Amino acid sequence: MFHIISSASIGITSVPVTVETDITFGLKAFCVVGLPDASVKESRDRIRAAIKNSGFKFPRGRITVNLAPAHVRKQGPLYDLPIALSVLVATGEIPRSAIESAVFIGELALDGCVRPVQGTLTSAIMAQTIAKREIFVPTENTAEALAIHGLTVYGVASLREVADHLMGVMRLVPVVKKKRRAPARTHQDFSGIKGQEAAKRGLEIAASGGHNILLKGPPGAGKTLLARSVPSILPSLTYEEALEVTAIASIAGVLPSQQGLLQERPFRSPHHSSSAASLVGGGTWPRPGEISLAHRGVLFLDELPEFSRYVLEHLRQPLEDGSVTISRAVGSVQFPARFLLIAAMNPCPCGQLTNPYRPCTCSREAVMRYQRKISGPLLDRFDLVIEVPEVDYEKLLSQEAPESSVVIRARVEAARERQRVRLKPLHLFSNNEISSSQLDVCAPLTPDTRALLERALRTNHLSARGYTRVRKVARTIADLSGSDMIEVDHLAEALQYRGQDQAP
Ligand SMILES: [Zn+2]
Repeated sequence: MFHIISSASIGITSVPVTVETDITFGLKAFCVVGLPDASVKESRDRIRAAIKNSGFKFPRGRITVNLAPAHVRKQGPLYDLPIALSVLVATGEIPRSAIESAVFIGELALDGCVRPVQGTLTSAIMAQTIAKREIFVPTENTAEALAIHGLTVYGVASLREVADHLMGVMRLVPVVKKKRRAPARTHQDFSGIKGQEAAKRGLEIAASGGHNILLKGPPGAGKTLLARSVPSILPSLTYEEALEVTAIASIAGVLPSQQGLLQERPFRSPHHSSSAASLVGGGTWPRPGEISLAHRGVLFLDELPEFSRYVLEHLRQPLEDGSVTISRAVGSVQFPARFLLIAAMNPCPCGQLTNPYRPCTCSREAVMRYQRKISGPLLDRFDLVIEVPEVDYEKLLSQEAPESSVVIRARVEAARERQRVRLKPLHLFSNNEISSSQLDVCAPLTPDTRALLERALRTNHLSARGYTRVRKVARTIADLSGSDMIEVDHLAEALQYRGQDQAP
């Protein structure tokens, strides 16, 4: 018995799937076992047509195709190509020896053309792990497969082409990696935003320590532009991070054609009408949601109170865990979801409550109702709350050039490096991950700062969560100024960002 190796994705990894085909004399039949019911019929029809239209005879007799292991969920049409090849091996058209060292994925069109599929990157990683030398993927997906070193990648446009190659009739040429220029950063740059120094400072702190941040201000103050600029001050993706980010996009089916490894941190801004499933992931065959697509990047929730409270509650666990688990009858799947959360809201329904230049037209009750739309526990996840006022005209007309993202990014990277070194023994990466029990080790206080914090606890009704949060933010501020100790200035600044609506 021979088998062809293909691939199935579980979360953001892929596992090998073997395709076996057996043809016996008997009543004409074509059975595929190991695929969900609905997709079997479609795949059989496509495979039969593709084989015929590629100039081969579709075999008579009883054909049984088995996809194993049975317990692994197999999704999507990527088994069309391996099944069709398996039939051609069974009929003797393709020699068995030709398929042994390779992994095959691809959807077939009725005319035998090969169509792009999802999850090519993780399939390539799997191929490398099980020591296969070659991978055959749809032409549109070759850039993904090329991201993995040590694999010979063939881009295939049609079933006939792969068959000819395997039969030794006409050899395909392996795809080679194109030399890439250093990618130009395409995110919005901070140099394009005049004024808003306080908000920029808050975002720099958030980016340095991985702190969740809430921007409050009237419409038109530039909250969205500020949030969009944050990826430009985050460090470049490492190779491992780029693999993760690309794998998620590939499995979600949002990776553009001919896209290799993604080079930039993601920025996702789902609309406030988003469902829980689109935000955290879901579906019968679970797919990553916005929070996973934002992994290693930024999730921006504009107009936070407009999101359904039910949807927002789904964010709490992933924010804690850095991942999301989706449970289904077919088994549970985990997707990573470690992102920087930036949210924005108006201070009241009309947006002018804090604007000294325009009157607020909302009733007191309406303002209360609006602010209460966000639950206390969710609000507690924000380490920094920053007021973003309307920019005054003097700042807008000023000739002074704002600081560019490159300059800010250098400070963020230095602060992150300090955290990395300090937190390494605890297996943590950034200050936002420090638990309250680790505070005395990671963010010790001097007698002066302790006195200041105790004073704040008494006078500002600082909650227990607020206390932890302030110390972590103060730690990041100290890291930004290159200080090992948290000084009074650092703590005083952190206290400013607490927001007055989160106590007691
Ligand atoms: Zn108002």
